[in-house]
Amino acid sequence: MSINTILHVVGNAWPEICDDPACPICFGSDRPPDGRGNTGVSLRGTDFHILVDFGQGTHAGIRRSNLPAPGLILATHAHPDHVAPMELDTLAKSIRDSGLASVPIVTTHQTWEMLPEFQRNQFRHIPIEPGHTISVDVGSETATVIALDASSHFRGGVVFFIHVADFSFGALFDLRDWTALDHSQLEDLDVAVIEANSLNPMSDKTGHVSIAEDIAFLNSLSQPPRLSLLTHYGHDDPVRHSQGSLVSLLQGLAPHLSVRMAYKGMVVPSTSLPPRNPVAILDDRTNLVVGVAEKKEAHERSLLHASVLILVCDHTGLLQIYERHERQSYPGCLDAFGGHMQPSDGGAPKVTAMREGTEEILLFARGGRRLVLEESWLRQIGPDYLLESTAQTNKERSTVFFVTLPEDVILRACDETDDGEQVELITHTFSLSELEELFAKSPGRFADGLARILQQMQVNPEFRAEVATSVERQQT
Ligand SMILES: [Zn+2]
Ligand SMILES: [Zn+2]
Ligand SMILES: [Zn+2]
Repeated sequence: MSINTILHVVGNAWPEICDDPACPICFGSDRPPDGRGNTGVSLRGTDFHILVDFGQGTHAGIRRSNLPAPGLILATHAHPDHVAPMELDTLAKSIRDSGLASVPIVTTHQTWEMLPEFQRNQFRHIPIEPGHTISVDVGSETATVIALDASSHFRGGVVFFIHVADFSFGALFDLRDWTALDHSQLEDLDVAVIEANSLNPMSDKTGHVSIAEDIAFLNSLSQPPRLSLLTHYGHDDPVRHSQGSLVSLLQGLAPHLSVRMAYKGMVVPSTSLPPRNPVAILDDRTNLVVGVAEKKEAHERSLLHASVLILVCDHTGLLQIYERHERQSYPGCLDAFGGHMQPSDGGAPKVTAMREGTEEILLFARGGRRLVLEESWLRQIGPDYLLESTAQTNKERSTVFFVTLPEDVILRACDETDDGEQVELITHTFSLSELEELFAKSPGRFADGLARILQQMQVNPEFRAEVATSVERQQT
């Protein structure tokens, strides 16, 4: 199921505060029109709609997105940019009109007591306290909601973690600091909407965390969210920024993090999020990278992707072939080294070969010192994407590389099993002709990658000659 995160209002806004009509920040086009601080975010699955906070403009956003009335509402804290009484009034009416039973609001007792009584009467309170986890049914799903303390920002304030239908979301609005939170809750989220009141740390003055603190915090996680969206940016910094300036600055400050400024109306489908284990998806005609998917998804959905296959040869001209682990596909079969291209390889098979080779081919000098794979030991055989697999579960184009190991370099093979454990693998040595004979006799002993190389050698004399030359070069 794809779950959409929809940001109705994001509170990134700053007023015209200088008198200069030529000022590009105060009077320019790149100043967001949203109300300062106003926050309202929906999570929309096939049959559920969860709303977190309802700052001014939230209901208009729900209408614009064509969403049904929410079946569950969460409120972080009673500041009017998050809990706007008039918005709640409109929501109550839309819920009545759609014939839903009274909708629950998950919030702390303190926040609930701060709502006007006539509005409390139109909703049902599900109390939650910092540190508590509750389960709430919404549509045909059960959402798990965890609250963590944010009372240093405002009394009764919490931030929420929502886990629903394999999707995990952090509603991390309006915090004074990150240090008090239980960081284990913040690992491995799919999407986090994060408060970013200013660029510089100045919570003493503003009561809110800054982009600088957000980035330091995200850097401290071993699995930061797949996407972090920054909200609530205002006018407190000594230097003023346009939205474009913030977008560029973030890229410079955190090129390695998936963190962006949020904008009003933003819709993020869970199916578009950066995968944890990304595989580059190719355009069929040009081989340009046009998509990215989890490795498992690329195989299951028959998406055309790129890989490299690496033959390793020692200084005596013997090929080093590894045996696949019992917890890998093709268990016990002989295979070439290699792996999938990731978008960060920049569409260059050689970059993939260096990265995968470094991971899988562990090299040691005599005496045990670890050596790194050197680019000069690697050469490509045949053109890019020469070998195509059209198997239903693996639509893949592979580029072949040859690694020649210098004398006195010892190889140990290492790879991940299908359940993600790093294991050492058994290797065997063959001369090229031994390997070709074995393949002719028992093709079933070969995994798909090495089998494709050997098949290509049977039908493509030029390719076979290139492999043979590479082996012979070693022997002389
Ligand atoms: Zn100005
Ligand atoms: Zn706020
Ligand atoms: Zn607040």
